[in-house]
Amino acid sequence: MRVNVTLACTECAERNYITKKNKRNNPERIEMMKYCSREKKQTLHRETK
Ligand SMILES: [Zn+2]
Repeated sequence: MRVNVTLACTECAERNYITKKNKRNNPERIEMMKYCSREKKQTLHRETK
């Protein structure tokens, strides 16, 4: 049930992180505050395909 997901910055759309999630625990798109290397600040990152 663990799948790879890409986390993209919601402000500049840069794809900064690849992580894994448990589809059973997180069926929805996950969001988290992460450091964006392009903008050099913490931004909201959202799961993308
Ligand atoms: Zn960004």
